Amino acid sequence: MKRIVVLGGGESGMGAAVLAKIKGFEVFLSDKGTLGEEVRKTLRDYDIPFEEGGHTPEKILNADEVIKSPGIPETVPLVAELYRREISVISEIEFAGRYDTAKKICITGSNGKTTTTSLIYYMLCNAGLNVGLGGNIGKSYAMQVATEQHDIYVLELSSFQLDGMYDFKADIAVLLNITPDHLDRYGYVMQNYINSKFRITRNMSREDCFIFCSDDEITVNELNKIVIQAKKLPFSQNTAVDEGAWSDGSQMHVNAGGSTYDMMLEELSIKGRHNIYNSMAAAITGKIMQIDNDSIRHSLSSFQGVEHRMEKVMSVGGVLYINDSKGTNVNSTWYALESINTPIILILGGTDKGNDYTPIADLVREKVRHIVCLGVDNKKIHDFFEGMVDSITDTLSAEECVRKCAELAVPGDTVLLSPCCASFDLFKNYEDRGRQFKEAVRRL
Ligand code: ADP
Repeated sequence: MKRIVVLGGGESGMGAAVLAKIKGFEVFLSDKGTLGEEVRKTLRDYDIPFEEGGHTPEKILNADEVIKSPGIPETVPLVAELYRREISVISEIEFAGRYDTAKKICITGSNGKTTTTSLIYYMLCNAGLNVGLGGNIGKSYAMQVATEQHDIYVLELSSFQLDGMYDFKADIAVLLNITPDHLDRYGYVMQNYINSKFRITRNMSREDCFIFCSDDEITVNELNKIVIQAKKLPFSQNTAVDEGAWSDGSQMHVNAGGSTYDMMLEELSIKGRHNIYNSMAAAITGKIMQIDNDSIRHSLSSFQGVEHRMEKVMSVGGVLYINDSKGTNVNSTWYALESINTPIILILGGTDKGNDYTPIADLVREKVRHIVCLGVDNKKIHDFFEGMVDSITDTLSAEECVRKCAELAVPGDTVLLSPCCASFDLFKNYEDRGRQFKEAVRRL
């Protein structure tokens, strides 16, 4: 019997283990950290052996195939050894894709993945279709393939997931944008990261559709270098396109799936320039899926957005607090700053993934009055922004940070948590950071 080892027992690892077990493989799951109680129980229910608190090489290197969590870098010695022995290492998505005949709509990009994935899912559900949601979001895709029945999946794919995908094929692929992110995992070589994003187009044929942003220079440059079989459908806020979507500043125009759709931008429920892109990508997808225009309009004008993405927390004393804890790179913070029209107190800091702050310098000079750092090591922020704003203060907890912001703010200001950085120095994850921020605001 073929032996499958699952490395990492999070949501995706657990789902992959269950699917492998159901498909008749000998399965073993190994996690370096501790497993959640729910995961332990599920593994026991399915009679799947596992270990936690460390990896036992003898129980892993004898695998025929390994399903690796996207969180584990390829450079850790155990994984390097698997490659050296030419043992196939794949992602949960690759594995589950082998057993799934549903139509697959896949979304990637440096920013906007979760928002656009959620929006497309919302639109397809509203249209009465039988849809599953998975990938980097929600329930494990593999677990759903093992235990549920859907006609369509909407999958959010990170570059790390794409790295472990080989034979998987998307029917519709959306690439929102490419800006430097996670470069620490790509040997600080941008092209490696670009290649990883473009893996979403692998195996696509002429019946499939590739939706991309033609305002994104990196994407367009790459498209000039490679051949993609799928039908290309661009979206743009700069130039009109024949097929795809574009906006003229007041309306979006969509031509896809054999007919057209127009909509006033002010009708869109999610605001900001970045969300016009996300909404256009969703509208093209809706048209390809032959959803009727009234239904698309209803979804695009009623979608409520996702927690921790430009989420309005509340106003206190005339100061609006916005939680954009998911703004974990410079580009997403650029869009956050761009969409605000009041003076800003900006909360920056956390774990730096190799940031260059140059792209936001102009917006900071123009809109930001004070920077409040929420992180352990803020030297880079001080060095870069000193002199551009009235003050830069260091804080070490959400509570301290929010109190400092309240002290600095005057009525009419916006306090924006959009830190350009990951959260792991002070918080469990960006959700934890966002929640602590919101609680601290509510206590003001
Ligand atoms: P991801 O899942 O790719 O991290 P999210 O949908 O969670 O993206 O959004 C993260 C942040 O990125 C948002 O808070 C917003 O500031 C910014 N953002 C969202 N969509 C886009 C876009 N299309 N282009 C640039 N930035 C965006």
